[in-house]
Amino acid sequence: MRSVLADLAVESEAATALTFRIAQSFDDSANDERAALFSRIATPIGKYWINKRVVNFVYECMEAHGGAGYIEEGVMPRIYRQSPLNSIWEGSGNVICLDVLRAMAREPESIAAFLDELELPRGGNAHLDRALDSIKDRLSAPLAESGARRVVEDLALALQASLLVRHAPAAVSDAFCATRLADCPALAYGAVDANLDTEAILDRALPQR
Ligand SMILES: Cc1cc2nc3c(=O)[nH]c(=O)nc-3n(C[C@H](O)[C@H](O)[C@H](O)COP(=O)(O)OP(=O)(O)OC[C@H]3O[C@@H](n4cnc5c(N)ncnc54)[C@H](O)[C@@H]3O)c2cc1C
Repeated sequence: MRSVLADLAVESEAATALTFRIAQSFDDSANDERAALFSRIATPIGKYWINKRVVNFVYECMEAHGGAGYIEEGVMPRIYRQSPLNSIWEGSGNVICLDVLRAMAREPESIAAFLDELELPRGGNAHLDRALDSIKDRLSAPLAESGARRVVEDLALALQASLLVRHAPAAVSDAFCATRLADCPALAYGAVDANLDTEAILDRALPQR
């Protein structure tokens, strides 16, 4: 259970870091052209990815509560029911990913600004360095619509990793990069390598007494 909770805590911190970074770029956009370019592409990327990740995240939280998490007397069923809605009524996943491809084609400066941000912690984590090289390689060729989700997912993970490597404790950023950017990432929350520093991650995430 500690592995599951630590993995959920890492996901939550990554989502929070991504959201606040995008909000900051949105605020800066009025007076900063570079921020506006970054925001143009980071906003749909963040929206797509957090909407996609939240559904399974909430399900895992529900399971952590056991049967009590499922019954209607608690708050979890309502959160679970609501969690898929954002990616339906506020722009569906495919449409958002096609918008990212369109922005990259029409405003190539936006992807340049985005890549500059990804590169800031270059050298800080080997998984991230490899992911950045792979992304740049992929973006050097024309992108097919059928691959839009994969490109957006990789850009979202790289931005989350870039933010955590710069701003989070090593226990969190190392865990994120090792579990999300590894060659064969696990598909379920909590399927983490035992040598992650789950104690440090949980100490940071849990309310302090
Ligand atoms: C609870 C609720 C409240 C709502 N409230 C409002 C409201 O107040 N005002 C309002 O205007 N609307 C409202 N809506 C409508 C909402 O905006 C639409 O449901 C949403 O935009 C998706 O459009 P759609 O339902 O026509 O699905 P579609 O656009 O038909 O999408 C269906 C599927 O096809 C995919 N798809 C669509 N186009 C493409 C494409 N070009 N390439 C690849 N895949 C594609 C989508 O990703 C999706 O998976 C509400 C919806 C809900 C569920």
